[in-house]
Amino acid sequence: MGVLGVFGVKSASTFLYYGLHNLQHRGQEGGGIATFDEDGVSHRYRGLGLLNEVFTNGEVSELKGDLGIGCVKYANVSKGGLDNVCPLFFRHRSGDFAVVSDGNLVNSRQIADYLEKRGTIFQTDTDAELLAHLIKKSSNEDRVVNIVKALNMMEGGFTFVIMTRNRIYACRDKYGIKPLCLGKIGDGGYVVSSESCAFEIMGAEFIRDVRPGEIVSFDSKGIRSILYSRYCRHRMCAMEYIYFARPDSDIDGCNVHAYRKEAGRRLYRECPVEADMVVGVPESSLSAAMGYSEESGIPYEMGLVKHKYVGRTFIEPVQSMRELGVKMKLSPVRSIVKGKRIVLVDDSIVRGTTSLKIVRLLREAGATEVHVRIASPMMRFTCHYGVDTSTPEELLCSHRTLEEARKAIGADSLGYLSPESTRDSCFGCADPCQACFTGEYPTLLYDDESKDE
Ligand code: SF4
Repeated sequence: MGVLGVFGVKSASTFLYYGLHNLQHRGQEGGGIATFDEDGVSHRYRGLGLLNEVFTNGEVSELKGDLGIGCVKYANVSKGGLDNVCPLFFRHRSGDFAVVSDGNLVNSRQIADYLEKRGTIFQTDTDAELLAHLIKKSSNEDRVVNIVKALNMMEGGFTFVIMTRNRIYACRDKYGIKPLCLGKIGDGGYVVSSESCAFEIMGAEFIRDVRPGEIVSFDSKGIRSILYSRYCRHRMCAMEYIYFARPDSDIDGCNVHAYRKEAGRRLYRECPVEADMVVGVPESSLSAAMGYSEESGIPYEMGLVKHKYVGRTFIEPVQSMRELGVKMKLSPVRSIVKGKRIVLVDDSIVRGTTSLKIVRLLREAGATEVHVRIASPMMRFTCHYGVDTSTPEELLCSHRTLEEARKAIGADSLGYLSPESTRDSCFGCADPCQACFTGEYPTLLYDDESKDE
């Protein structure tokens, strides 16, 4: 999911709308925007689908006010539907507030039990609602104290952006698993975003990343910051660099394109192969393919073309839809690949559905050999922090050797980047989370589903 907050600009909703478009790659199931106007009246509009399907009739201009928050949501089988699309609004005697969130709590069931025993009735399945109820259960006059208490009950990888009538709070989990960054906008305004790529279109200027465990608040008096926990780590999600984030984003001091290119260079050093051309799977793998090509001296070619405006197969929830999606999404460039030995560079393999189809597409188009090189390690474990990497049974590599995985996708050879190189390509984070590759989770797992893996 992608979250965004804006404070101190006229028509904040317009800035949010354009900024959210630059976060659309983080979720296509739904989205929404909420604002407070100068009279303290709340406004909200949200819906299912892409942003240009949600906002069709000038709804953005109806969302008055100079502060607002918004989000885009990705499909998640257990938490679908309009009710679970943020922003969520909450009424409280201390003042109304709205919340958007990214990520996932690993102790949400325990928190829900705790709250239910104290009389809470839930309207949604979201972590945003859990946070709101925990905040409301605390009685301190100072809202930030209540937020600190609530966050200290939460475990997982998450970001929350909370909006009151006159202030925005931006919160990042104490492990720094999910990205969040700050910018300046207009004359004394501020913006907070999951990724810095949203800033360009909004005319905002990057200030810095929100630190793990930090709550940054901004209002008419400026920016304030506190850490909600003394136990802070820096375990940024490696998959953000590998797959999710846009190449023009900088996360924790590392440009995503630069990361991927370095991973591609290392991939060649670890898994070399003789071939006529390097082909990247558009679009998140193109940077790694460039790196592989540069390091190997094998020419980079556009052997595959992506049809735009078709959603990501990885995050569509139903298998039959995914299979159809792959067919619709990519075309081989026959005159380029015919008679050639190809190194096909991809960022990751989740279920193997896409890889199998692409290898077949290239062979059908006349490629004589297809060597698959993956710019991340074998994905063997489920993510518990909000990345819908599917169940262990569905993951290609959870129960397969490298050779079995190669056969399953029909490649001539298969090679993966090592966890060490995945870490060392990451200039911004010395020890990123790689739990879906290694099984070493940075947090406790309260439900402990990993034991089944
Ligand atoms: S388990 Fe994988 S996808 Fe999940 S946060 Fe860690 S690196 Fe990212």
